[in-house]
Amino acid sequence: MTAGARQTYLNYINGQWIPSSTNQTEPSINPANIHDIVGYVQQSGIEDLNAAVEAAGRAQPAWRKLSGPKRGEYLFRAADVLEQRLDEIAETVTREMGKTLPEAKGEVQRGVNILRYYAGEGMRSIGEVIPSTDSEALMFTTRVPLGVVGVITPWNFPVAIPIWKIAPAIVYGNTVVFKPAQETAVTAAKIMECFDEAGLPAGVVNLVMGKGSVIGNVMAEHPHIHAITFTGSNEVGKMIAQKAVARGAKYQLEMGGKNPVIVLEDADLDRAVEATISGGLRSTGQKCTATSRVFVQSAIYEPFKRRLLARIKELNIGNGLADGVWMGPCASQKQLETVLSYIEKGIEEGATLLCGGRRLDDGEFGNGFYVEPTVFENVSPDMTIAREEIFGPVLALIKVETFEEALALANDTPFGLSASIFTKNIGKMLAFIQDIEAGLVRINEESAGVELQAPFGGMKQSSSHSREQGRAALEFFTAIKTVFVKG
Ligand code: NAD
Repeated sequence: MTAGARQTYLNYINGQWIPSSTNQTEPSINPANIHDIVGYVQQSGIEDLNAAVEAAGRAQPAWRKLSGPKRGEYLFRAADVLEQRLDEIAETVTREMGKTLPEAKGEVQRGVNILRYYAGEGMRSIGEVIPSTDSEALMFTTRVPLGVVGVITPWNFPVAIPIWKIAPAIVYGNTVVFKPAQETAVTAAKIMECFDEAGLPAGVVNLVMGKGSVIGNVMAEHPHIHAITFTGSNEVGKMIAQKAVARGAKYQLEMGGKNPVIVLEDADLDRAVEATISGGLRSTGQKCTATSRVFVQSAIYEPFKRRLLARIKELNIGNGLADGVWMGPCASQKQLETVLSYIEKGIEEGATLLCGGRRLDDGEFGNGFYVEPTVFENVSPDMTIAREEIFGPVLALIKVETFEEALALANDTPFGLSASIFTKNIGKMLAFIQDIEAGLVRINEESAGVELQAPFGGMKQSSSHSREQGRAALEFFTAIKTVFVKG
């Protein structure tokens, strides 16, 4: 049976699709049309979590004993299944969280690519030989799995983020308990179906749907979860870190951003405008790497602003499933309310609204969580909209005189995820690379955009100073043993 039968999606524990012990479900709704129920998802309780942790613990010894290449074969098979189901799963992503269909397809394809990358990782080196001072000895490092890994993910990339955590976790020999965001739990069930169809042994991956405050909370303190990898808000991340530290568990956090773009007077203006729009408004601004603050040198401020506003007017907003739609709704009512409250704060605190600012609710828009793309100017560094992550299609335009002023303002934030600059000046590029406080630095490109084979993560409060993706995943999902052998 698939998890999707009867449109009720079940937990996946020990290779079985099972309803939660609470017998409670809730609808997962389409943010573009609240009358469209994507499916009913489980509201699990602690018992379900315990069953999943137990299953993962039981599966781990046999799984870790398999060779890396053998584990990789399962990932290759899961990639093939996901690829075969790309269109269907992309449509689910669009219906469940609102991003446009082309973006959703891109994300599912990325999931396929990540699975293949980590499938290959099963064959790559997991240690190094280090010359010993004893000429008759062999000294080397090897890496071993951590055990059971808890995976907690947000709703904004409901395919890519779970896969970029689960794939390396299992290829290095760990087993997984996965708690997705409840808003995108149908998509999560479909990812599990792919692992199931790929024939992964029972218990290697387990899915428990449910509220963060119920399931997630207990995952952080569960004595049989050896490591937690989390992507989401700073508030929740900090709490998870405290609980993990208290019991000596390994943890990894990827959290919010307040990402700047700097546009200098020698920039290619068209490119800078397009990148600001794409980086700031695509996915309705709900990327952790989305552009939020736009620092523009005064000499080009007015032409930049004119072009930006003219281009924003042309954006086609609507249901992400429809052809030609560029921007969909906010992913949930809560997210819409958060965005609207930040817009209100911006106005209250004296910023000037240049465009947007309203909920869209005429006609069909009334059934969804749509908000206009919004641009403010006269934003001072101490305003809330310049400081806090909004996670919506809202840009703050800030006029600066010099590169140095822009850089200082760009760094004036507790976050440090991504940052970009538009300039032709190589000296300024190099200074930016050196001095910007961000884990992802982009030159003449938008702030959003990550390649799966490269490390990803933030500085300052955007992460736990660890990195995900690419070979960086090896650091988190394994422990090093240093071995000394003498005959
Ligand atoms: P969130 O923190 O509310 O939720 C993230 C996950 O944590 C969900 O699965 C949620 O159920 C769970 N959770 C909630 N409360 C919990 C608790 N008390 N204990 C344990 N788990 C709990 O975040 P969100 O609203 O889903 O996602 C948006 C946030 O994610 C933004 O801040 C965004 O910047 C961040 N994000 C960061 C990255 C990155 O890689 N840096 C990527 C995407 C999103």
